[in-house]
Amino acid sequence: MTMNKNSSESRREFVKAIGAGVFTVGAGALTSNAMAASANQKKLGIALVGLGNYATNQLAPALQVTENAYLAGIVTGTPAKEKIWADKYKIDPAHIYNYDNFDNIINDAAIDVVYVVLPNSMHKEFVIRAARAGKHVITEKPMGLTAAECEEMIAACHKAGVQLSVGYRLQFEDNTQQIVHAGQSLPLGPINYVRSEFSFIIGNPKQWRLKKELAGGGPIMDIGIYCIQGARMATGLEPIALRAVEYKTDHQKFSSVEETVMWQMEFPGGLYSNSTCSYNMKANELYVSYAKGNARLEPAYSYRGVGGHLGQLKLPPHQVNQQALQMDDFVVCIRQNKTSKVSGEEGLKDMKIVDAMYKSMANGGQRVVI
Ligand code: NAD
Repeated sequence: MTMNKNSSESRREFVKAIGAGVFTVGAGALTSNAMAASANQKKLGIALVGLGNYATNQLAPALQVTENAYLAGIVTGTPAKEKIWADKYKIDPAHIYNYDNFDNIINDAAIDVVYVVLPNSMHKEFVIRAARAGKHVITEKPMGLTAAECEEMIAACHKAGVQLSVGYRLQFEDNTQQIVHAGQSLPLGPINYVRSEFSFIIGNPKQWRLKKELAGGGPIMDIGIYCIQGARMATGLEPIALRAVEYKTDHQKFSSVEETVMWQMEFPGGLYSNSTCSYNMKANELYVSYAKGNARLEPAYSYRGVGGHLGQLKLPPHQVNQQALQMDDFVVCIRQNKTSKVSGEEGLKDMKIVDAMYKSMANGGQRVVI
């Protein structure tokens, strides 16, 4: 059985397939409703800061299909990119900035939202500068390098009266949201275990992701965040304690950041999750065990094609444009003056967990209360 049928038929089959419980529509449907409500309103202008891989290959293309936002400006430290982007996306030079003159964006009425897509250690600075310029801000994950940094970023946005969001695109992905809803309405009974794993084999040893001063850490900062999000989303709970250990096989390549980390999170009620993230193996999975069945997404964290099963229900790979949904939803939040579900506070929760992971690793895997 699949969801590729008309919606009422699919909903009936969903309830049947997973046994009982209440069907709740997925994130895409909710977002579409919100988008319909804001149709015919002026699109908000987004400026991308940092024109690397993610901005070039995901965010800029997504901004060609967003209904509530458009690519209005760019901020780059590489002059050669200015003309390329201006030509490709018809961006007026008046809306092109570099890292030095970025603060002039305060006078640019065409830019409503600044989207920070720089190496991790630069997120805090550019979020705070954007907030001081009166712009709403999205920052890429990890939100900052520590929970303390995140608190500074939240305070700056609060002071400036602007909204802050983190680029957690999977919170706008339908199959992920089916797992979230199953954790709330419990059609398969209570959850008794979660496993979340995300790993890949990293290439170029000279890249910023392997330099602590720019990345803040290794795979924890880059992809471990997805495992934390996965476990928190699936359970709908916040971990109260954790233990984390690191394994290193290549001391040269991973001289300043971790290579592989395994950690166990303890949730209220005696529920545990196990997670692994690594820059030296391959995994991309979210597994949830319920009293009456299980769910598995694999891949669970990719840009497209997230899919798997939930009980007897197949969750066919979804091809939604997660980034477009994420940015459209943020504009709806700005227009309606409501907090984004991927707010700065949401990012802060993850970074408190990350802080606890590094503390536990530094103490031989000792249990750390979050
Ligand atoms: P990238 O290396 O491809 O791009 C980084 C950009 O920052 C480049 O344009 C580079 O010129 C610029 N930059 C400025 N100062 C720099 C410095 N000192 N060193 C290196 N680069 C510098 O990286 P990316 O993959 O685009 O990642 C950027 C951010 O986006 C990261 O925070 C990353 O975690 C995040 N990201 C998120 C997702 C997601 O799915 N949400 C996916 C990929 C990356």
